[in-house]
Amino acid sequence: MSENIKTIMEGLGENEFILPVGYKDKDGVVHRTVTLRPMTGETEEAIADPKVRDNGGKIITALLESVIEKIGTLPRVTKDTIRDLTTIDRDFLLIKNRQVSLGDNISYTDICPHCRAKNEIHVNLANIEPKYLENEEDRELTFDLPIGYKDANGTVHKEITITLPTGRVQERVAQMVRANPAQATTIMLQLITLKLGTLEFINPDVFKKMTKKDRDFISNKLSELEVGVKFDTEVMCSECGSEFETSIPLQSLLGE
Ligand SMILES: [Zn+2]
Repeated sequence: MSENIKTIMEGLGENEFILPVGYKDKDGVVHRTVTLRPMTGETEEAIADPKVRDNGGKIITALLESVIEKIGTLPRVTKDTIRDLTTIDRDFLLIKNRQVSLGDNISYTDICPHCRAKNEIHVNLANIEPKYLENEEDRELTFDLPIGYKDANGTVHKEITITLPTGRVQERVAQMVRANPAQATTIMLQLITLKLGTLEFINPDVFKKMTKKDRDFISNKLSELEVGVKFDTEVMCSECGSEFETSIPLQSLLGE
């Protein structure tokens, strides 16, 4: 942990936390702290609204809009502010909200993939250590694709710059992920790409034509960043003793 993060941590108030990435406002100022208030009946109604119910991204936006009291020194927090938070920060806030509103312990059931036995999983959210973005420049990642995208003139574009996905991207992608996960990836890649070689326009077609190897490479770069919180843990099956990976479901984090 950097000295900077440690210093902020010492001055934190009750229900105040440090965002793993932070919110960058239009003047380029990064706001790293957030203050939460516990969920109320209003929150429950907001996340049960049929207009958001079939879109995980929109549920998270509605939840956070209801429980975020303050972000850094921003005069106010709007729905757009929450959409512009990175998915890394939004995931972190899901955990913190669950702790502030309902306590540290969470239980859910998951099926062992080896023997199909139902397992009761208990997680203490206080044990989930967030990792913080240490270098501000890591908000954008520039690297070379293994194969590259060949345009109509035969030019191969390899150098790509991507940015961290935000709630806005999450809302767009959540809409299509169930119907067609590959198409959802195409749209996600297009929305997070700032630059690809010398291409002037980057439309979804670029990522549709891109090799699977390159597409996977970009997705891996994002997970390699290892910032924020992890929802998955390794557990041992109570029936057959094999280890399997389980992930805290969104419903549990919403207190449902
Ligand atoms: Zn098992």
